[in-house]
This record gives sequence, structure tokens and C-alpha cells, in this order.
Amino acid sequence: MSKRSAGSWVFLFAFLLSVPSWAGLFDVSVKKQKELGADAAREIDKKSTIVGEDVKAPLIKGKPIDQIVRGIGEDLARATGEYDKWDFTFKIIKDDQINAFALPGGYIYVYTGLLQSLKVEADHNLLKGRDMLAGVIGHEITHVTGQHWAKQYESDMKRSVGLAVILGATGASDAVQTVAGILNYSQSQKYSRKDEYRADDGGIKLMDKSGKYNPQGMVDMLKMLDKASEDTPSYMVWLSSHPETDDRIKRAQTNVNKLDD
Ligand SMILES: [Zn+2]
Repeated sequence: MSKRSAGSWVFLFAFLLSVPSWAGLFDVSVKKQKELGADAAREIDKKSTIVGEDVKAPLIKGKPIDQIVRGIGEDLARATGEYDKWDFTFKIIKDDQINAFALPGGYIYVYTGLLQSLKVEADHNLLKGRDMLAGVIGHEITHVTGQHWAKQYESDMKRSVGLAVILGATGASDAVQTVAGILNYSQSQKYSRKDEYRADDGGIKLMDKSGKYNPQGMVDMLKMLDKASEDTPSYMVWLSSHPETDDRIKRAQTNVNKLDD
């Protein structure tokens, strides 16, 4: 072994020992999450038809639907106790897909396809429909405050850098996450099973804490989407295949029952 390569092995060994010190290298700060989220939100706003901005919002009992969605969002966002920490915005995208998503930083979007499904299921019971919608929005808010995207991103980066070290590569891979990556991740619901459960749990807590929504709406909403996914599977984006919806429904119902005790 030449002197030079021995030296590089010492360097690599020292680098591996220093792992805890670079563990925070890829932490995405709240400020950065808000910046990336804002960039992604601008893309969404540009390429989508936003109800209440690009097209007139239909009225429900005389109130524009975009205002209703925003009102529910604001109520639940305030119940997080972190309202000022994030850039919460709530908008409706005109699209038949059954979907809703959150961008890092607090930019939350609900599709008209989802609102339509809720309306059909609630069958003129406005309170029931409103509680189910609160379930979806509370779930998405929890993805934001739980910083689920940022944590997934950090662990992905650490894994790829760790691999680079093991393979003896010199430079860390590019740490820049593209806006396209965030959009793909958020819109197609690529969260882990654990984060989906956490988002359901968090949503129920927010509904309860706000004092304005019946947490049973979360269970009703999951049941409704489970049913809708059989009728229109190609439009169903929101329910990821993991965890199984049956398990989510059972878990949500257990959590709601605990609140009543
Ligand atoms: Zn989710």
C-alpha cells in the first residue's frame, strides 16, 4: 500500500468517525421549507385552474366554496399552536381527481374532485361534509407541522451520502432538491406508512382541539374515500396503497373513541 493511499484511508476513517457531526448537514430548516414550498406553490398556481381566482367559486348557502375551505383550514391551522411559524394557505384546484396535498411550508391544495365526492356522500348534510373536509385538511396540515417531507428528504440524503462514503467517492452528492421533486412527492402522496398514520392522528387531534369539528369526520372521510376508490380507482390519488385503508379506518375510529372517554 503506498503512503498516499494509506493517507486517504486514514482520511476516510476519520470522516466516518465524524459522522455525527455531519448528521445535520442536510437538515432542511423551516425557513428553507417555506422557500421551497413557495416556489412549488407558484408552479402549481401557474399551471392549475384555481377556484375563486381563475374561475368563479360556486356558492354553498351563499358563501363561496374557496372561502369555506380557507375558513376550515384557518381554524385547524390555529389549533396547531404554530400558526405564525408556517405560511398556511388553502386553495382549491379545479380537477376531477380525488386528491389533496400539502407542500412543505404550509401550502395546501384540495381538488374539486374530492369536494364533489364529499358532497355526494354527505348528501346535503352540510355539517357532515364539512367535518369530512376538515379531516382531509387536518391530515394535510399535520404533514406540514410534522415536517414529513423535510425528514424524508434528510434521510434520503444521508443514505446517499453514506453510500458515497462507503464507495470512497470524494464529494457529497448534490443536495439541491428540485421543485419538481417536491411536487411529485407531495401530489402523488409518497409519504411513509408511519407519516400517514401520524397525519390521521394529528388531524383528529386538531379537529378536537379546534372545538369546531366532529373528529368522527375523519373516520367518515376515510370510509367514503375507500368506497369511492372502488368506483373510480383511476381518479383516486389521495389514498396511497400503504397503509391499507381498512387499518387507517380502524385506527382513526379507536382514536376518536378515546376522545369521548
Ligand atoms: Zn397523507
